[in-house]
Amino acid sequence: MATIKTKGIVLARSNMGDNDQMVTILTPDLGKIGVAARGSRRPKSALMAGTQFLCFADLVLYKGVSSYTLNSCEPIEIFYNIRLDVDKLTIASEIAKITNDVTDENEYSYNILQLVLNTLYMISETEKDLDFILSIFKLRLLSLIGFRPEIEKCATCGAKENLKYFSFKDHGLKCDACGKQDKGAIEISESTVKAIKWIIWADPKKIFQFDLSEDNKQQLKILTKIYLNNCIEKEYK
Ligand SMILES: [Zn+2]
Repeated sequence: MATIKTKGIVLARSNMGDNDQMVTILTPDLGKIGVAARGSRRPKSALMAGTQFLCFADLVLYKGVSSYTLNSCEPIEIFYNIRLDVDKLTIASEIAKITNDVTDENEYSYNILQLVLNTLYMISETEKDLDFILSIFKLRLLSLIGFRPEIEKCATCGAKENLKYFSFKDHGLKCDACGKQDKGAIEISESTVKAIKWIIWADPKKIFQFDLSEDNKQQLKILTKIYLNNCIEKEYK
């Protein structure tokens, strides 16, 4: 069997037998894969550290018929601070769950992996508002997986000025007149409009480098929650 070297982050784990586990790992090149980690629950197993939930690691894998087997792994980043704080862990777990739901095997996933790592880094290493981080993550993720909203012009009439609403039905901003006709659309502030554009356009490493007032953070939170549930057709809390 040929070995494959890659990197990846553990999105989920489930126990198999007494000592083994199946880990779900998001890699840049193989997409999301299931990996059998034999003996990884044994004390002192060399696979234990790298198969922890949310650990980003260098991996050496064997490819089998239906899944991969982990040969060796070396942790690169374990996001230690997330493990010490229940609020941080709750948001990080939500990020892992959403990512697990929207990714698949054999898909190029470099951009999504980069977003997940940058987001976990913000959670781990800063004291930035956790709901705000989650909102930014959701909107950027949706734009990466094919649900990039129309943000340059009104999604109905094409007007470039006076964009004051966000439409879930038509996936994008709407002008005052068209927004009022769209029953599901929500009215948002000029700052929130700017924030949406920033989240979608900014360099991957800079997406978290802005701030909003509490009211606008709340708008962004509601908007990204509804938009995610609409696009993915799932109910996230
Ligand atoms: Zn319009």
